[in-house]
Amino acid sequence: MERNYDVLIVGCGIIGAAVAFELSKYDLKVGVLEKGNDVSLGTTKANSAIIHAGYDPESGSLMAKLNVRGSELAAEICEKLDVPYKRNGAMVVAFNEDEEQTLKGLLTRGTVNGVKGLRILTGDEARMREKNLSKDVVAALFAPTSAIVSPWEYCLALAETAIRNGVELHLNTEVKNIEREDERWKVTTGEGEFFAPHIVNAAGVDAIAIHDMVAEPKYVSKPRRGEYFLLDKSEGSRTEHTVFQCPNEDGKGVLVTPTVHGNLLVGPNSSEVAWEDTANTTEGLNFVREKARKSIDSIMFNKSIRNFAGVRATTNHHDFIIEEAAPGFIDCAGICSPGLSAAPAIAEYVAGLMEKSGLSLERKENFIFERKRIRFNELSDEEKAELVKEKPAYGRVICRCETVTEGEIMACFDEPIPPVSIDGIKRRVGTGMGRCQGGFCGPRISELFVEDRGFDVKDVLQDRAGSEMFTGKTKEGR
Ligand SMILES: Cc1cc2nc3c(=O)[nH]c(=O)nc-3n(C[C@H](O)[C@H](O)[C@H](O)COP(=O)(O)OP(=O)(O)OC[C@H]3O[C@@H](n4cnc5c(N)ncnc54)[C@H](O)[C@@H]3O)c2cc1C
Repeated sequence: MERNYDVLIVGCGIIGAAVAFELSKYDLKVGVLEKGNDVSLGTTKANSAIIHAGYDPESGSLMAKLNVRGSELAAEICEKLDVPYKRNGAMVVAFNEDEEQTLKGLLTRGTVNGVKGLRILTGDEARMREKNLSKDVVAALFAPTSAIVSPWEYCLALAETAIRNGVELHLNTEVKNIEREDERWKVTTGEGEFFAPHIVNAAGVDAIAIHDMVAEPKYVSKPRRGEYFLLDKSEGSRTEHTVFQCPNEDGKGVLVTPTVHGNLLVGPNSSEVAWEDTANTTEGLNFVREKARKSIDSIMFNKSIRNFAGVRATTNHHDFIIEEAAPGFIDCAGICSPGLSAAPAIAEYVAGLMEKSGLSLERKENFIFERKRIRFNELSDEEKAELVKEKPAYGRVICRCETVTEGEIMACFDEPIPPVSIDGIKRRVGTGMGRCQGGFCGPRISELFVEDRGFDVKDVLQDRAGSEMFTGKTKEGR
């Protein structure tokens, strides 16, 4: 039987998820085609996790407009969908007179962009708010509306809510070709054919390649990698605000920020790569460490618990590329920073473009806009006791670093996108996020997959397809 949709979305990072969420408010049949075995496996899971205030993008650009609107929307969405989010404010610090001029330029630009509450602080005023800031800081732009978020939980929450509202998600479904057939698009994937008159290309770093399947090449992909240190929670209060340095031609520079999970995040650098290469390099990490110490010299890098890298979907066009590339085919390409911040506003903008290209948008009556998670660690002692009495699995702690219980892990299997890997569980409930990085809970979660979910031990994955953990049982077949 033919699989027909009103709209097909290619990719389920934050942009595909936000578009799915937005379109699920309307009476439409929407399908999402994602090549990974989970959502949020691309750049969305590896970035600075900042909901930027919006002073950085060039005034009048799509980035500026959608960043400011997206940051307003994010606060409400994260509250309603129970996504970890904190408006901690940001500072851009200056070390000399030239950089002070840059701050003044950012203040003017931010004000034109509609960012609220921006002001310039002296070095001493900045240090009053952020005690570990370097004594060499001479001034800072203060942006109170900047926030931190859990990017993968944001993506999951949007995708899960879209599914609760009727969207169909097809995982492990890589788009291989798209062609025009009778006033509609035929999408050929590794899992067969799909049809729709409207397509949204939200394929991240691959978006230019997807565009080239349906239209003349127009833009050139120039991906840039950013590398990070994630430090233990003992370093998590080294800063309260997100501390940026002055932006340069390579982007927003190296930042130091707390995360919503209580760690300290330091990075990124910016180096050109040929493809979505997320390897870490000695050179990149040394650069990050040296730059970050300029802002806060007391950071204890020996408390680093993980390094990672994400790849920006940069192109030769210095703005988001959100436009109709062919009839009913909307590109969301070049969605580098501030894409995470702008995501819900990008989704609104895409819906508007689709309406102009003939998609009928009729509001649904019973749109579900809520989601709730149990986070055992955040409950009071009385609530914990009550819960354990009712459901004993909440009394069995699986991840000791983060105090995550078997009950929380089991609950995520009942959500609309059940996890299929150890890292899939990590993204949902935070196991393996602490100092031991899964050394203790990893084997116990593997056991849960085998004993409770009926997986063959050889099929237990660390993350993506191909990341099998075990070759078999020891002593078997002797
Ligand atoms: C170092 C770095 C720091 C950043 N910091 C910030 C920040 O602090 N704040 C901010 O606002 N933004 C930030 N960004 C930008 C932000 O992370 C991105 O804009 C955002 O994550 C892009 O989301 P996406 O959905 O477009 O792409 P992705 O998350 O990469 O998702 C694309 C999806 O498409 C899928 N896909 C690809 N090809 C196919 C295919 N052929 N068939 C099916 N599926 C396919 C992929 O598997 C993937 O899941 C940063 C980016 C980087 C790299």
